[in-house]
Amino acid sequence: MQETYNGIWREIASAIRPHLSADAFQRWFAAIELVQADESALTLQVPNNIYQFWIESNYFNVVQSAVISVLGSAREIKFSATDSGITGPVVDVHAEGVREPLAPLSHGTGAEDLDGAINHGMNPRNRFEAFVVGSNNQIAYAAALAISRSPAKTYNPLFIYGGVGLGKTHLMQAIGQQTIERRKIQKVMYLSSERFTNEFIDAIQHNKLVRFRKRYRQTDVLLIDDVQFLAGKERSQEEFFHTFNTLFDGRKQIVLSSDRPPSEIANLEQRLVSRFESGLTTELQPPDTETRMAILRKKAEEFHIELAEDVLAFLAQRVRTNVRRLEGALIRVASYQSLSGLEVSCEALEQLLRDILREETRKTVTLEQIQKKVAEHFEVRLADMTGKRRSANIVFPRQVAMYLARRHTKASFQQIGEIFGGRDHGTVLHACKTVSVRMKKEDQVRQTIVRIDTRLDR
Ligand code: ADP
Ligand code: MG
Repeated sequence: MQETYNGIWREIASAIRPHLSADAFQRWFAAIELVQADESALTLQVPNNIYQFWIESNYFNVVQSAVISVLGSAREIKFSATDSGITGPVVDVHAEGVREPLAPLSHGTGAEDLDGAINHGMNPRNRFEAFVVGSNNQIAYAAALAISRSPAKTYNPLFIYGGVGLGKTHLMQAIGQQTIERRKIQKVMYLSSERFTNEFIDAIQHNKLVRFRKRYRQTDVLLIDDVQFLAGKERSQEEFFHTFNTLFDGRKQIVLSSDRPPSEIANLEQRLVSRFESGLTTELQPPDTETRMAILRKKAEEFHIELAEDVLAFLAQRVRTNVRRLEGALIRVASYQSLSGLEVSCEALEQLLRDILREETRKTVTLEQIQKKVAEHFEVRLADMTGKRRSANIVFPRQVAMYLARRHTKASFQQIGEIFGGRDHGTVLHACKTVSVRMKKEDQVRQTIVRIDTRLDR
């Protein structure tokens, strides 16, 4: 039981960690143990009462939202103190800044932590040994490993892209931590591009540009996560361009990540796009079923979770697109099972994971992707989707695209009409009706559309 509690707490703690400075996390959360948990409350064992007071008054929201993200709902947080004395850690009360939960989470800690940091703001769990390799990620993994062995000698820059929760941050931090361990002298910096931008603005404001530049341009390995957030920020892009060039010319390693390839980041200067593309660009794809199963087994082992094979298989089968979500589902099932003492049935699983499964089936397909896929399928030009031509071989594909747009996005008839070359609400409505009638009557039409539909899901 205690092992399971430890696993749950580890998960909650890692959701708390990004919101605090490394120091504050270490001081207030490192010593905590989860000692009791049920459907309504969690009991945290803390060294003394000061912890309770301090955590409740400063970190309550952070803790509660971590609990929700891990367990699916809020719990009352109780504390039990091992020592009833009143001595607590010595704290400078005013120095503690908390970053409230924001989406998306940006990893990394306060600026002051970077130089003498414990983990340079990196999560110790994000290591190569903990990363499961499958056909979806093997190139990125191999490149990352090669870089950590000999920085700036193989791929430079390395650009990793892929959807949310597929391991970009994990791989980058694995490179960072491995490099630090291998060669103690190397200066490694890991941060998100948002953080780069914020520090840059701060440096301008406080006349500290020289120091800012020195810090970034004297590093040996620079890992910048989520560079898509540089989009549209012209001065930050310019600054980053020079940082990039200085490091690159000095034969320093640069690793970048993004949710899409460089050329698809809107409002990113061309000169940055071509720099980003000048090394190795590699994609992380969603894992296949076997890899998802292997990930579940590995995580179960890591958290000391014991679940029946068919429960693992259910999770692997149903949570396909995002490893973070898969992890979340695993932890939730494990905590449910340990709290209720019951083996979970498949019906119970459906219920327990309702929100996660709903997220999973929600498609995030854009109107442009739909137009493109449909045009490809029918071998018409993309421009015909929005154009005026009315020959039958174009009108039908256009109608199919409108129909799929309605099904896959939240866009209204009106909005769809606008995207499809300024057509009106009635035209879109008519298109949707026509397509669904034909799907009912004509087998071939139905199959065609189902085929495009499944390709959109990928
Ligand atoms: P991203 O940065 O792409 O959004 P993360 O790197 O934060 O995703 O990964 C989300 C979670 O999934 C992390 O807990 C990470 O450890 C885990 N994860 C992702 N891919 C793998 C993998 N191949 N093997 C093991 N864990 C993984
Ligand atoms: Mg990330």
